[in-house]
Amino acid sequence: DPRLEAISQAIRVVPHFPKKGIMFQDITTLLLDHKAFQDTVDIFVDRYRNMDISVVAGIEARGFMFGPSIALAIGAKFVPLRKPKKLPGKVICEEYELEYGTDCLEMQVDAVQPGDRALIVDDLVATGGTLSAAIRLLERMGAQVVECGCVVGLPEVKGQCRLNGKPVYILVEPR
Ligand code: 5GP
Repeated sequence: DPRLEAISQAIRVVPHFPKKGIMFQDITTLLLDHKAFQDTVDIFVDRYRNMDISVVAGIEARGFMFGPSIALAIGAKFVPLRKPKKLPGKVICEEYELEYGTDCLEMQVDAVQPGDRALIVDDLVATGGTLSAAIRLLERMGAQVVECGCVVGLPEVKGQCRLNGKPVYILVEPR
């Protein structure tokens, strides 16, 4: 797809952010590039529009920047998966490993019903720990996770089904 090179170039690489040794893939510059941003959403929409997806679940915070546009375009509801203590009402929680310690993602229990067909969206997949927690949240509520879609992913993850057996669809590799 000829659009992918421009999408890749629109992502700024910031060395040593948020700490030394990390090559941070900064997708805010992609959001500033109208054509590249639109192409990114369009590629996901073209892929998912006929897959009978009923829910797009976006991971806080950068999954919120792509997920809602995709959900609106394919006629699905959008469900935010958030850091702890942000969502009111009854929630379920799944932990995932960080470099030091653990964190948690929460989802409201009334947001998803058994039989829902889910697409999980985030900006970037590295170890896959965050996406795995998201998959567990949706499956606990009886949803079927059809695929995880990410803008950026390591080549090791690309094309693999290693996240709880779920396929991961990636647009570009980190630069
Ligand atoms: P994982 O759980 O797969 O190891 O890490 C993925 C999560 O970390 C995603 O939610 C993603 O937003 C965040 N993340 C890790 N590294 C980067 C990066 O270089 N750029 C961006 N934009 N997000 C990152």
